[in-house]
Amino acid sequence: MKASEKSPVNFQWNDWYEAVGGRKIQIDEVDALLNKIYNDQYLRFHGEIAEKKTAFHSPEEAAELIKIKALEFGADMVGICRIEPTDIYKGREVAHTFAIAVGQKMLWRNFQVVPSQESAIECVRVYYTLGETVIKIAEFIRSLGYDCSIEHPIGDSDLLHIPIGLKAGFGELGRHGSIIHPVHGPLFRMGSVATSIPLACDTPIDAGIADFCDKCRACRIYCPANAIPDERSKSGGKDHLGNDRYMVDTGKCFPYFANHYYCSACLPVCVYNHKEWARDFEGHATTSFPLVVFENAPLPADTVAEDKKHFYPKNNRDKPVEIPAGKHHLDKTSKI
Ligand code: SF4
Ligand code: SF4
Repeated sequence: MKASEKSPVNFQWNDWYEAVGGRKIQIDEVDALLNKIYNDQYLRFHGEIAEKKTAFHSPEEAAELIKIKALEFGADMVGICRIEPTDIYKGREVAHTFAIAVGQKMLWRNFQVVPSQESAIECVRVYYTLGETVIKIAEFIRSLGYDCSIEHPIGDSDLLHIPIGLKAGFGELGRHGSIIHPVHGPLFRMGSVATSIPLACDTPIDAGIADFCDKCRACRIYCPANAIPDERSKSGGKDHLGNDRYMVDTGKCFPYFANHYYCSACLPVCVYNHKEWARDFEGHATTSFPLVVFENAPLPADTVAEDKKHFYPKNNRDKPVEIPAGKHHLDKTSKI
């Protein structure tokens, strides 16, 4: 299946980094994890398919077995949807019909200060562990005699993780542009496996989260780059409920992200289900709200060629960054 004419281009990491003067985040643990992802996991994307095909009585039976296995392999959430051309990045093709979407939580204890080295490592750690999960699901599907392809959570995938996650029933789209799960909140990462085994699909949900976002502005206030919008965008397309989408200003977000440990501040400050995921589940001392580091935002980067970037509105370009209570300014003595 080919991508739709309306599909966005895949995020062009190299062009975006070039627009902000190159990659600057240097953390040994992150480099080690990235090395394992690119030099070990990527090599395990393909494998032998068993000659004998396992027969299933129904798509429901096949879906149930694969979901049980996905949870066994480390997923915290799993859902299934049919792939459509709009779920595929421009210029890419996907040979399969169904996507098995999986998500894995990031640990709240590592987002006590954002952005920070700890939060950066946690983001990449979950890219790695969820990478293991999708590889194991793919190996299992091949052992049943069926082909499949891996859509790794780290980025260079053919499928757009967010529309797939929404259709697979993971949650609703938040003002910060990430999916909010009704139980787990937004602090998780997603990946998927595409296959053509006939599978029963899940359905998108309406749990009132999008309505809640219309009244809450926590991520908007705590975004150190002022990149999150006040209003839904009339030009950014619709979410699965038919609402205009909230569109983050990538030209403002990316320079902050690239200079400040992949930022991610909008996720742990999200108040949706905050109390649930802020609990101290395993005896670790945690606070109920993160300390957000506010530093002067770099200049916006709008120099990536138009045909290499997706649409984003220029949000709050003329407004100074709001300084909420609980914020933290970096100074020369800060060690984050
Ligand atoms: S990642 Fe940081 S800069 Fe980007 S939208 Fe979220 S809070 Fe704002
Ligand atoms: S912080 Fe509030 S407005 Fe932002 S995504 Fe979460 S619930 Fe929505």
